[in-house]
Amino acid sequence: MAPDLLLPTHSIVRPDKDRFLSEENPFEAMMSRFDRAAELLDLEPGIYKVLRKPEKQIITHSPVMMDNGDIEVFTGIRVLYNTSRGPAKGGIRFDLNVTLDEVTALAAWMTWKCAVVNIPFGGAKGGVICDPLKMSAAELERLTRRYTASIISTLGPDSDVPAPDVNTNERVMAWIMDTYSMRMGHTVTAVVTGKPVEMGGSLGRREATGRGCSIVTKGALAHLGMDVKGATVAVQGFGNVGSIGAQLLQREGCKIIAISDRTGGIHNKAGIDVDDAIAWIAKNKTLEGYPKGDKITNDELLTAECDVLLPAALENVITKKNAAKIRAKIICEGANGPTTPAADTILDEKGVFVVPDILANAGGVTVSYFEWVQDRGGYFWTEKVVNERLTEIMQHSFKAVLDLSKQHKVNMRTAAYMLSISRVATVHRLRGIYA
Ligand code: GLU
Repeated sequence: MAPDLLLPTHSIVRPDKDRFLSEENPFEAMMSRFDRAAELLDLEPGIYKVLRKPEKQIITHSPVMMDNGDIEVFTGIRVLYNTSRGPAKGGIRFDLNVTLDEVTALAAWMTWKCAVVNIPFGGAKGGVICDPLKMSAAELERLTRRYTASIISTLGPDSDVPAPDVNTNERVMAWIMDTYSMRMGHTVTAVVTGKPVEMGGSLGRREATGRGCSIVTKGALAHLGMDVKGATVAVQGFGNVGSIGAQLLQREGCKIIAISDRTGGIHNKAGIDVDDAIAWIAKNKTLEGYPKGDKITNDELLTAECDVLLPAALENVITKKNAAKIRAKIICEGANGPTTPAADTILDEKGVFVVPDILANAGGVTVSYFEWVQDRGGYFWTEKVVNERLTEIMQHSFKAVLDLSKQHKVNMRTAAYMLSISRVATVHRLRGIYA
């Protein structure tokens, strides 16, 4: 199926517009997990101080000529959290809720995510405060190019490599690659990943995050002695992570009993035909009006009776308000930061097995790494090879985190942080402090 360049790569679910006001600051929330792992690792004070701060935070204000002739100024952010293990890697999101704290937390998450799957990248994230759904394609292109120009000093295949994130897609990556290439005077494909395949993108990149989620979900089911065949799954968010994750799990024999997007959800005990729902979205843009099930809200979806819950939309949707009501046995975090630290404690007490975001959704950046390798080598792999290598990395990483969690008697999130922080810390120790 040819990718639809107009579709956002993640769907947008907004169950709680004030989600950052109602629970912890996203950076502090991320850091509370970091602190717990650092304590268990007995991290030395010097490296602890280094890893608690972002390396670089850039804030830009980009003037853009709108279609009606008005000039608007858009605030953009790019945060390079840590580059000790390699070039900074991480997506760029276009969203009205972008804040410096959120982007910094997401950049730190990228650092831990790349380390947990052991790919040679540091972590970064970018964001532009805008409402892409209210902008024309021409306005979005001008904004993308101007934002790219404003952060050009950090970008480059060896320094900082963006990718798609919430509300950005292959087309946006093509504009970034073109703007950078024009400034360099030659074509530089490896400056972004998640590009269209026709211009140096990788086969399998688009499906990679959802595929990674399905691989670790199978690992979690096997660990708990549950059968994949017939396991019931509820999926929040039906962008490329949720829809592909659901599609692949359905092919493995799971029953998808609920799906949702920003317009709400659909529940069907007998199972939802995911291919049919994807075809509906391709035609109607949202799930609204999808007839083959009962209407439910996004909140109802999260607490639905199921074996596996796959939150694949935005941050902070599983909070202290709803965590006690969650009935899933496994949560596979397709989104970045869907669970707050307060909710973690409640889920632990209930015995819910959580595959944390930095592991569960690392399939995307893993195939971004494959894309970067292919661009730099100028030699492209088949989709079969991409998927085989992705499967190997995801299975291996899942096992490494599970083994560590058993060894230290901690949950999977703490184990994943311990594994990644120890990898980043080791490189800092080896490199020493530049003076
Ligand atoms: N935005 C994706 C993530 O949060 C992909 C990042 C990348 O491929 O660099 O993992």
